[in-house]
Amino acid sequence: MNRICRIAAALGRLRTALLLISGAALAASLAGWAPFGLDPAWIAALLCGAPIVAEAAKGLLLRGDVKAGLLVSLALLAALWIGEIFAAGEVAFIMQLGEALEGFALARARDGVERLSGLVPKIARRIEPDGPREIPSAEVRVGDRLRVLPGEQIPVDGTLLTGESAVDESVLTGEPLPVEKRSGDTVRGGTVNRFGVFEMRADRPESESAVQRLAALVREADAGKARIVRLADRWAGAVVLAALVTAALAWWLSGDIVRAVSVLVVFCPCSLVMATPTAVVAAIGNAARIGYLVRTGEALERLAAVARVAFDKTGTLTFGTPEVTAVVPAGPAGDARALFRLAAAVEAHSEHPLAQALVRGWHARFGEDPLPGVTAFRMVPGRGVAADVGAVSVAVGSAAWLRTLGIPLPDLGAAPGTAAVWVAADGACLGRIELRDTLRPESAPLIRSLRALGLTAHLLTGDTPAAAAAVGAALGIEDARGACLPEDKLTAVRALQTPAAPLCMVGDGINDAPALKAAHVGIAFGRGTNRLAMDSADITAVRGTLRELPRLIALARRMLAVIRANLALSMAVNFAAVALAVAGCLPPTAGALVHNAGSVLVIALSARLLTWAPRPDTP
Ligand code: ADP
Ligand code: MG
Repeated sequence: MNRICRIAAALGRLRTALLLISGAALAASLAGWAPFGLDPAWIAALLCGAPIVAEAAKGLLLRGDVKAGLLVSLALLAALWIGEIFAAGEVAFIMQLGEALEGFALARARDGVERLSGLVPKIARRIEPDGPREIPSAEVRVGDRLRVLPGEQIPVDGTLLTGESAVDESVLTGEPLPVEKRSGDTVRGGTVNRFGVFEMRADRPESESAVQRLAALVREADAGKARIVRLADRWAGAVVLAALVTAALAWWLSGDIVRAVSVLVVFCPCSLVMATPTAVVAAIGNAARIGYLVRTGEALERLAAVARVAFDKTGTLTFGTPEVTAVVPAGPAGDARALFRLAAAVEAHSEHPLAQALVRGWHARFGEDPLPGVTAFRMVPGRGVAADVGAVSVAVGSAAWLRTLGIPLPDLGAAPGTAAVWVAADGACLGRIELRDTLRPESAPLIRSLRALGLTAHLLTGDTPAAAAAVGAALGIEDARGACLPEDKLTAVRALQTPAAPLCMVGDGINDAPALKAAHVGIAFGRGTNRLAMDSADITAVRGTLRELPRLIALARRMLAVIRANLALSMAVNFAAVALAVAGCLPPTAGALVHNAGSVLVIALSARLLTWAPRPDTP
């Protein structure tokens, strides 16, 4: 990796030197300096032009490629042939300058994205004598025993020891169907665990396992690039043909070969080709600076059109780190501690914010008391979890879920403003554990800013309708729906989004994954360990706050505006230049300037997106 970076840096310096020398040569030529009767513009034509011609020739001969570079090469050679050395040197110089600028913008954008990816916590849960402990996955040693919770990315390559689950290996294989895994099967680092829990032995350190994930990411990025190139290619063939025909006509009608060369020079659709990708890349770089990892440029384009935003509650609008406020046994004879212990033992295998809060609460109170192991763990997204603790079969979840399991619940009174989790053992309710989750202070301003941008907010939560209504009232969200199972969230998203009012879903949990995928734009949020949510979303917020969401939407809209301006500008410049060249009003030298000024302008407009920020008075 390091070597590649060094080579890239050296190439960058070489290109800068090349550009400086060529620029000086062109200036000298313009000043009329011609030692030995030779135009110094030759230097620029050769230094900058040779790579372009070589690349185009190689592409054409080896692969039959007809790309924009071919047209540039034709224009270059034609200009040299009729003795327009300066025009040739200038075309080549500005082409290389444009590419260098584009490369610069790309590098800056990628830099931001990479720094941000580094922020996504990569954790492993090592089983130690006193229980599981979260460690950075880079610290996993071969032979370590690790636990993997639902929705988490498997930290390293290893062998499954106990438990079973289905694993989504699509990052490695492209195969969308999850693969069933049981004891003895190998699991691979970077793939994503779905609904089960298992323990595994690490067979390789992260540095070796991660290579696969990285390779997969590179493949994904290359596929994205290929799409843009293919688009340009589809146009290039027609453009080259049109250019040749127009040039031939201009020559035939006027008898002036210089006009034909001018036409070739100004026909190159460089600025048109660069209009979209440069803006997208710059906007993705800017998004990374404010904490959002954007997977594809199309996602940003879609975000610009969004009219509604639907939020999950727990962990998204609230902190998702609730505190246990009370443990209430079902009857007067109930044992609060025994009930808490059973619930915590099962929840230790769940990734849910309520589950983790429960385990934290247990350790805060009874830290010295280790939790018993469980078997036959199963999690039902949006409902709860169940497992066997010794011979007792335990279920922990929402009241509605326990009722559907046929467990009668006693009346323990309402728990206003708090979340409640019910606990049952062998079909009988033991009681409930009450938790309090606080709204994030930034949630209310966030909803206000979204409204100022003309967006409607919706709330879709798996919590009770009462809790949904309370949060809706506190934040000013009129449409607050409670008791949403994952499939209800999905249905709600489908029903709310119309072609006229596309919807953006923001959520953090496994229960949000289907809705994130179905939404026009999905934004995953949270601690970043929930890979299932991240992989279902187009965009991931990694800074642990949604404060900058309005800014991201404004940025997406700005990006669309820049793309439109770029396209209009480059088309206008190209059309005008071709018309002038055909009319004989634009010699090749001036043509090259006008045409390439278009490209440089497009790049400059796009590059401003890298640092764009909304004016302070507009949200
Ligand atoms: P939200 O949509 O607000 O993020 P979820 O859909 O994740 O909420 O959860 C909805 C309800 O299901 C919770 O309020 C809780 O009662 C129950 N639940 C879900 N997962 C668990 C779990 N692991 N342990 C206990 N209860 C759970
Ligand atoms: Mg949630």
